[in-house]
Amino acid sequence: MLDRVRIVLVNTTHPGNIGATARAMKNMGLSDLCLVEPKLFPHEEAQARASGADDILTTARVVGSIEEALADCQLVVGTSARERHIPWPLVNPRELGAISAQMLQSGAGAKGRVAVLFGREASGLTNEELHLCHKHVHIPTNPDFSSLNVAAAVQVISYEMRMALVEGQAAGAPQWGTQWDIELADNAELERMFEHLERTLIDIEFLDPDNPRQLMPRLRRLILRAVPDKVEVNVLRGILKKVGLYGKR
Ligand code: SAH
Repeated sequence: MLDRVRIVLVNTTHPGNIGATARAMKNMGLSDLCLVEPKLFPHEEAQARASGADDILTTARVVGSIEEALADCQLVVGTSARERHIPWPLVNPRELGAISAQMLQSGAGAKGRVAVLFGREASGLTNEELHLCHKHVHIPTNPDFSSLNVAAAVQVISYEMRMALVEGQAAGAPQWGTQWDIELADNAELERMFEHLERTLIDIEFLDPDNPRQLMPRLRRLILRAVPDKVEVNVLRGILKKVGLYGKR
């Protein structure tokens, strides 16, 4: 099941951190590493720090956008070292393990995939990137010194994934998504729906593109909390299509 947990590193600056991430993952039995526009990769420093986890680096996928990295994932989680502007559903790594176990083992997510996003060494993830996520995860730390090295953060998350998924130590988590047989919408379907929603809201002059405020983040947060399945997303898009036709009249 750990093969359905994807670690996504966004714009990593130091290749050594990519190597250390590969090692941290392999120690815990994870294998799916995706690199979004790394600064320097492949690189000998990555190789050196992987010390034996070279296979993870060899099979790592390098992509040009976060969208590509997340497209086939039904649960997307963003890591954050600090509080952000608009609050988002927040879990700790242990709760993330429990939710992932729920989703990967049962219900409509049983064939699904989890992605955990890790940010840039200097600046973390942008708000826009964090708004792609169902949940945010914060590793509890000394509040006066809360930022871990990115590979150290990957180590903690991977350990909790192993505890929950392999060692069976998942504490009771609420059902993730639906229990019926319709699969959960994946990130690509959700993002197409959000684009459609935004376009429609502009067409009907509910959303002012020159002054969007926090409307889309708030709507994203609302819809992501519901964890819609594929049919529900199609129904919403059908409604948007009709609304768009009226808006243009
Ligand atoms: N200065 C940046 C910190 C970047 S640390 C900021 O303020 O956002 C690089 C990455 O390591 C983060 O993007 C996150 O993916 C991970 N990370 C570091 N500390 C973390 C913590 N306490 N909880 C969760 N993730 C953390």
